[in-house]
Amino acid sequence: MIIVLKQRAPADQVQKFCAELKGMGFEINDSVGSDTHILGLIGDTKALSESWVLANPVVDTCRRVSEPYKKANRKFHPDDTVVEVGGKVKIGGGNFAVMAGPCSVECEEQITLVARRVQAAGASILRGGAFKPRTSPYSFQGLRAEGLELLDHARSQTGQPIVTELMNNEHIPLFLDKKVDMIQIGARNMQNFELLKAVGRTNVPVLLKRGLSSTLEEFVMSAEYIMAEGNPNVVLCERGIRTFETSMRNTLDISAVPMLKKMTHLPVVIDPSHAAGIAFMVPSLAKAAVAVGADGLMIEVHNDPARAKSDGAQSLTPDQFDDLMSTIRPELEFFGKTLN
Ligand code: PEP
Ligand code: MN
Repeated sequence: MIIVLKQRAPADQVQKFCAELKGMGFEINDSVGSDTHILGLIGDTKALSESWVLANPVVDTCRRVSEPYKKANRKFHPDDTVVEVGGKVKIGGGNFAVMAGPCSVECEEQITLVARRVQAAGASILRGGAFKPRTSPYSFQGLRAEGLELLDHARSQTGQPIVTELMNNEHIPLFLDKKVDMIQIGARNMQNFELLKAVGRTNVPVLLKRGLSSTLEEFVMSAEYIMAEGNPNVVLCERGIRTFETSMRNTLDISAVPMLKKMTHLPVVIDPSHAAGIAFMVPSLAKAAVAVGADGLMIEVHNDPARAKSDGAQSLTPDQFDDLMSTIRPELEFFGKTLN
């Protein structure tokens, strides 16, 4: 961190500030110019808050020169992390995984039918929401615990691992009891720090979705929360961000993939369904996701989109999902990715 001191800052106060920083374990590279006095802090500054530094009356400005995230940082972990889900599906490091299923689990027939169809098409993880974050309290809120039972049942039929959203710390024992293979933290909870810490204390892989208007650094800092508690199995999911564009639900930030891969060693997947909000765009965005180097996809598939209890407009039918998989298979081969 570089700290620029105020011109004519009283020497005794500067000395006191430097002593305080040294007491915190930093070495100081002290550079006094004709009219600027700069302190270069040497040491691990991740726990040093900029606002604490700026609050000192001798400080004019300060700037971080190293990232505030360590465990997720590619600099300290150059190799790609490979996250294993359900003991068999690999995501990252050349392994590409497709998670597919309905937005919400609605009933046994629906989830088992969709599970069979997406598995036959080549998806390796079944998605389905049991606890649903809905904009309106009057919209379908999910089958909750019963939804988890139905996912568990679908898994017993196909053997496919399941991923489902956790919205509340209190539900963690239920998720562990049902042996949920991957816990999804939804966009709206990306900065629910208590929830992030709680999943960080489990060893269940986490699918962390990017907040609707979060910067990539904020996104990676949320992954850091999970990792700092001891859970290294984090997969980042870009699911579209809010922009000035209104013709689709969100704007897929395709640039996030190469940038996140530069910043971190974690796998990055794309959810084109929530990004677009309209089914016809999903296959094109899925192809773009493969081309830009994503490690996987999350796709909403419903047996009868017109009657879906949530997100029908963006859901593919099983036949449309078959077509999507047929298009991306040769593309994955071209880019040297292994479909898990
Ligand atoms: C979902 O996956 O159904 C969902 C609610 O996603 P997001 O948190 O990205 O909106
Ligand atoms: Mn959805």
